[in-house]
Amino acid sequence: MLTVAAARSTVLVHTRPLPPETVPLTPSLLGAVLAEDVASDLDAPPHDKSMMDGYAVRSADLPGGRGELTVIEEVMAGQTPRLAVGEKQATRIMTGAPVPSGADAVVMVERTRTADGRVHIDDPGLQPGRNIVTRGREMRRGDVVLRAGAVLRPQEFGLLAAVGRTTAAVIPSPRVAVLPTGDELVDPAETPGPAQIRNSNGPMLLAQIARAGGRPHPLGVARDRLDSLRPLVAEGLDYDVLLLSGGVSAGKLDLTPGVLQEAGVVAHFHKIEMKPGKPLFFGTRERADGRPPALVFGLPGNPVSTFVCFELFVRPALRRLRGLPDSDEATVTAVLAEDFAYRTDRPTYHPARLEVGDDGWRVRAVPWFGSADLRGLLEMDALVVLPAGDHRHAAGTRLPVVRLEF
Ligand code: AMP
Ligand code: MG
Repeated sequence: MLTVAAARSTVLVHTRPLPPETVPLTPSLLGAVLAEDVASDLDAPPHDKSMMDGYAVRSADLPGGRGELTVIEEVMAGQTPRLAVGEKQATRIMTGAPVPSGADAVVMVERTRTADGRVHIDDPGLQPGRNIVTRGREMRRGDVVLRAGAVLRPQEFGLLAAVGRTTAAVIPSPRVAVLPTGDELVDPAETPGPAQIRNSNGPMLLAQIARAGGRPHPLGVARDRLDSLRPLVAEGLDYDVLLLSGGVSAGKLDLTPGVLQEAGVVAHFHKIEMKPGKPLFFGTRERADGRPPALVFGLPGNPVSTFVCFELFVRPALRRLRGLPDSDEATVTAVLAEDFAYRTDRPTYHPARLEVGDDGWRVRAVPWFGSADLRGLLEMDALVVLPAGDHRHAAGTRLPVVRLEF
């Protein structure tokens, strides 16, 4: 059977970044990857600029930073000086305003006293260039200020605005369809009858997709019948990713692998050496329009299995679709905070809590009643990876841990 690592690389081998689109720069693009180099359309600052409220002066007029000057003009940010500063003259200047010609330094107002249109200066640190940012110091017209591959954070939005960009080529966030399957499922708004359960995987997956930077689309619930599954699967294959939950193992009504195959989905694996979630289907379907193949995951129906399989396999795929580099950041090594005995026939991703200890990560397995126990997930923010076998792991044992919320 396929190991988790082998399965993850199979997923990544079949996953290519989505083609870029030029779109308006709205906050919904936070976290998106830029797909073009962006150059500045201007010099910044556009003129020699005062960094202080104070007086623009000629430093040569003020030996030792001391002297008295005649004030000839006042310039606010947004105004252009009319007069050049001549010998023994000064211009009152505000932060951000252009430095008048003739002046080569700005004295901050705290180092001045005024009387009768004259200003007395006392600034021992005065030298040419003091408190002035010269034109183009931050960037010059034509400088590439952002490279393709940059992740859009708030500061990138600020810089893009500063260089006049309101649109940019970015990799769009993947559209991900969610299709829970099962005759026993009822809507969360309903009270389940005997033998029914509420569809909890649907809302959970939509939220996981949103957290992983995808655009979630619920397709409704498919029943365990071919005539219900077929049209919904066909609809789902139009998305970048289709996530099914349930109906994927070897039960009598586990129809999804057959329906997917019929719809042209090529299966890459169907079982993984792990717990929870041994049955996990992954396939791809080529698309005629040049877009990368649609990815199809058949997640096991049990809510915890669905959750874990999403984090281990779907999240890395979404990263790659978004044009982000593959990341190992999610996996850390931690020491067990307390003894933990565990017996399992397959490598197990057990719900756990990570803490920062004195010398690195510490991990604590949280109580958990198996694959359907969603409440057991509330305490966790990580999965501790336990090897197959009957083990007493002593406190201090080092184990791999997958972080979920970073
Ligand atoms: P299946 O893989 O279809 O055999 O489902 C395995 C288990 O997960 C069964 O107990 C299902 O009732 C349960 N299950 C399947 N789909 C969902 C869902 N959308 N929400 C909650 N539980 C589910
Ligand atoms: Mg089912």
